[in-house]
Amino acid sequence: MHVVIVGNGVAGFTAALRLRELDPACRITMISGESTYPYSRPALMYVFMGHMRYQETKPFEDRVWAEQRIELVRAWVTRIDTEGKRLELHEGQPLSYDKLLLATGSQPSLYGWPGQDLPGVQGLYSLMDLHALYQNVQGAKHAVIVGGGLIGIELAEMLHSQGVHVTFLVREDAYWSNVLPAEESAMVTRLIREAGIDLRLSSELAEIHAGPDGRAAAVTTKAGERIECQLVGLTAGVSPNTQLCQGTPIEAGRGILVDAHLQTKVPDVYAAGDCAEIVTEGEGKNLLQQVWYTGKLQGECVAKTLAGQATRYDAGLWYNSAKFLDLEYQTYGLVHAQPQAVETHGWWEHASGRLGLRVVAMDGAVTGFNAMGLRLRHRTCERWILERRSPGYVLEHLAEAGFDPEFTRRYEPEVVATLAAQLGVEATV
Ligand SMILES: Cc1cc2nc3c(=O)[nH]c(=O)nc-3n(C[C@H](O)[C@H](O)[C@H](O)COP(=O)(O)OP(=O)(O)OC[C@H]3O[C@@H](n4cnc5c(N)ncnc54)[C@H](O)[C@@H]3O)c2cc1C
Repeated sequence: MHVVIVGNGVAGFTAALRLRELDPACRITMISGESTYPYSRPALMYVFMGHMRYQETKPFEDRVWAEQRIELVRAWVTRIDTEGKRLELHEGQPLSYDKLLLATGSQPSLYGWPGQDLPGVQGLYSLMDLHALYQNVQGAKHAVIVGGGLIGIELAEMLHSQGVHVTFLVREDAYWSNVLPAEESAMVTRLIREAGIDLRLSSELAEIHAGPDGRAAAVTTKAGERIECQLVGLTAGVSPNTQLCQGTPIEAGRGILVDAHLQTKVPDVYAAGDCAEIVTEGEGKNLLQQVWYTGKLQGECVAKTLAGQATRYDAGLWYNSAKFLDLEYQTYGLVHAQPQAVETHGWWEHASGRLGLRVVAMDGAVTGFNAMGLRLRHRTCERWILERRSPGYVLEHLAEAGFDPEFTRRYEPEVVATLAAQLGVEATV
């Protein structure tokens, strides 16, 4: 059996390695147009800022792939022939497959802004973007970044670290307010401004203008303001990369449509990671998961099915972590940006405005946590949510979830008292 994987991101490479473990005999080929060897996409910013070398972003040494008999092909797949089970590549011979896994990731969302294709305008997703940034930052004094999610703040930090003045245009009236509750959003907003980044809220890009040399030289906002700049970063979100489905019977909605086994309706074609949209049975919304750890989970799961052990994907409990400048953020379970009527939220924030903890409860059980500037133990938080522990129990045992004994010693009584009052429970430590 020849299994071909398109994409060598976390979903693709996890699937390849797991499949090799489960099926020592099958032939595995992994194709990517971006790089021969897998690397860690979230580490792109650290390479740019000089904190890591590219070589260090590779999750495995180059020799591993040959040792595991996983053939690596550096090429862009241009067409899938599902009848003939063949892939056409931008150069070289077509490749036949018995089973195909699409792990093509995401692509940056662009909204047809006038000037979006000018030199000096770019996104931040791939190694190609990293190389473009090395070029575009040369001589740049002022950059404008459009779109206030996690990638936007990373690009702002990267440019700011190189002494480029950054104006950050965010359409919403608070940073990442569709994901973060008001207090967390206000905390990050403050930190961005304190760092010297010119954050403009409720501000939308209208047009990017070229200078006499044909490169981006200014933007105008929908409010009519003109901002001179030499670099424009477009980071208004990403969407699943479904390009290869065009002209094939592989169905795509927002992502490549797959069932709970991560299988499309076309025999022997699967999808996993950022590109997959998992169709949920019943009334629930289809599942799109576009973070590193879910790519890994989906890669693991689809490998089992590819190896003949049909396995349903279990999305488990939601978890995500990120860094806003130097502020760590972790979220576990369900934490809605707008508290739901059935939920009770407790929020504690330190006077410094750099530490915060949110506990969410529903029907007498804790359902979510947000930690800002402090780190919680993944296993403990997950277990409490799955065991439906009461807010009182969680507050009384809060120290078990903390990594930092100094934090616990200094703040635990204050944190617990504040959260207990808001959650309407009694808890003493
Ligand atoms: C700058 C940045 C920072 C991030 N930081 C975090 C973070 O801190 N935490 C977190 O959880 N997530 C983070 N993410 C998201 C995370 O990187 C993605 O969720 C994850 O990489 C998705 O993995 P994947 O395997 O599905 O796809 P990808 O990593 O996107 O890999 C897909 C691969 O397929 C290749 N490909 C696509 N089409 C073709 C084709 N036609 N032919 C050949 N090859 C093709 C692409 O070139 C790419 O190499 C970040 C993303 C970015 C861009």
